[in-house]
Amino acid sequence: MPTSSTTRFEILPSNQPTADSIRDNILANPGFGKHFSDHMVNIRWTVDADWHGHQVRPYGPLTLDPAASVLHYGQEIFEGIKAYRHADGSVWTFRPEKNAERFRRSARRLALPELSDEDFIGSIKALLAQDTTWVPTPSSDADECSLYLRPFMIASEAFLGVRPAHEVDYYVIASPAASYFKGGISPVSIWLSSHYKRAAPGGTGFAKCGGNYAASLAAQKEAEAHGCGQVAFLDAEESKWVEELGGMNLFFVFKDGRLVTPRLTDTILEGVTRNSVLTLAKDEGLTPEERPISIDEWREGAASGEITEVFACGTAAVITPVGELVTENERIRLNGDGGNDVAMRIRKKLLDVQYGRSEDKHGWLTRLV
Ligand SMILES: *Cc1c(COP(=O)(O)O)cnc(C)c1O
Repeated sequence: MPTSSTTRFEILPSNQPTADSIRDNILANPGFGKHFSDHMVNIRWTVDADWHGHQVRPYGPLTLDPAASVLHYGQEIFEGIKAYRHADGSVWTFRPEKNAERFRRSARRLALPELSDEDFIGSIKALLAQDTTWVPTPSSDADECSLYLRPFMIASEAFLGVRPAHEVDYYVIASPAASYFKGGISPVSIWLSSHYKRAAPGGTGFAKCGGNYAASLAAQKEAEAHGCGQVAFLDAEESKWVEELGGMNLFFVFKDGRLVTPRLTDTILEGVTRNSVLTLAKDEGLTPEERPISIDEWREGAASGEITEVFACGTAAVITPVGELVTENERIRLNGDGGNDVAMRIRKKLLDVQYGRSEDKHGWLTRLV
């Protein structure tokens, strides 16, 4: 489906594309983030020439000057978005305009140039036109395979002075992904970081940048040492307000049908999944509430049965029920077996739209191929 936004890309096809049999083997068991499709997008930016040199070219190592400022000062942003194959073979993506908008917001915070929505969405279409065969075909409704797309932007100028780079590169790479949960969804244990903070007011918490992830890894190690798969972070000022996980937003289901998620501030990353869950919750007759929620409210609500479910959400894992919150001196478990009905219901609704199994009544899908 060529469109005006894809025609400006020069196509340099790989002369060593992956053999069909090898690709089929990869797609049968892709894991996550381990295998990459045959091509990638690159668009260059310079302070003098703006965005130019739109290309789809063979996937491969970058040539980067050792003085490239991204390697020293971390001037970098990224996105995560998926391509889904529908039953009729067509390929779609989910709310790419939200990712494009967030990418521009992240760029402004990191003093990087803004990429237009047309180039962002056009780059995904151009890559998918070339690498359509890399989008796995679900074997059943429970098979949540997809092609994970990773747009990113780096300061590539060779310069050690500290200022926004005058040369920047944008890339998109694609990686086939299996269902996040193999063999059924089981609630995760979450470590509450009492020492480390993810984001501070005025900082980069709302931007999707590598630096936020680099800063979360020590806490992630701590989590793993305590048998937990993820970390929850509290606010930096009072250590009282629940913010989010390292890469997922949090929701709390209340007995009376309220669905609470922390209100957006500059220390919380606005997830596309979070935004979609808020909309779907209303369709489900729940009452969404965006407001501060304290760790005490979590503890007390879990003990009293007021809170019946906790779940995390993001593009990669969709929706993950949270089984328990582990801290230095306690384990906060929900009182009673909620069964995570609400989380699983919203999860299914979201996946049904993404995989084209139900009506896209909010106009969330964009056809790629
Ligand atoms: C990407 C990300 C999320 C989830 O965003 P989605 O758009 O739903 O994938 C949540 N928190 C952080 C810190 C993130 O980087």
